[in-house]
Amino acid sequence: MRTNIIAGNWKMNNDIFTGNNLINQIIKLLEKENANPNVKIVIAPPYTNLSEAKEIIKNNTLNIYLSAQNCHYEDKGAFTGEISPSMLDALSVSYVILGHSERRLYFNEKDTIIAKKITSVINHKMTPIYCCGELLEERENNTYKTVIKKQIEEALFSLSNEQMQSIVIAYEPVWAIGTGKNATSQEAQEVHQFIRQTIKSKYGTIADNIPILYGGSCKPDNAQEIFTMPDIDGGLIGGASLKASEFISIWKSLKSSKTI
Ligand code: PEP
Repeated sequence: MRTNIIAGNWKMNNDIFTGNNLINQIIKLLEKENANPNVKIVIAPPYTNLSEAKEIIKNNTLNIYLSAQNCHYEDKGAFTGEISPSMLDALSVSYVILGHSERRLYFNEKDTIIAKKITSVINHKMTPIYCCGELLEERENNTYKTVIKKQIEEALFSLSNEQMQSIVIAYEPVWAIGTGKNATSQEAQEVHQFIRQTIKSKYGTIADNIPILYGGSCKPDNAQEIFTMPDIDGGLIGGASLKASEFISIWKSLKSSKTI
């Protein structure tokens, strides 16, 4: 059975004070609910919040894990301003978001570099959340499957079978991120199924166990419908992860859409 995940990508929002507050609010709301052991909650605050966040979620029985939003591929060295996988590992970080479209757009990250980061993160026993997805023009000119296949091949296909088993994928149509537009549940399902097939073509049945999350304006009012799709195993949530009530409402939708 695949793990279901709701991951909140805070992006460059919240300092340690507002961030601590948000995590405490999330925990308070979760404590009122029945946890589902097969639905994980992942919180990806900015680097500056990780240390405090680690203390807050320590010893929790609520299935909450910590994620970073990026990292370098080297463990140490003269890379001013960068954070390494070993530094994240030392903070009990479990996941690292890699290849987010904002990293690709604003920091010119390519899949060749992302592939190195993925290997490094896996070597530190953390789980990469690899983001892929097409631009608006690629959706409109119907090249989106070619684009996504190329992203997956370049970033993931040098992994061994064993390494591939520790991957989480997020399909994020770039035109739906932070825009209020979202893919319909059918559009999202089509791509999720395509991603799984692409992985299956090289890794066989390993593909059946890889969680594929949907990201792109997933909100409390559309989450339920999206999560009922068979190849959608959760969500990578941006804007709606900044409000505890919205984030938990999306988590509840996932919990009720997937049976244990
Ligand atoms: C994201 O950037 O990962 C994301 C899904 O953002 P939003 O939910 O705000 O569209």
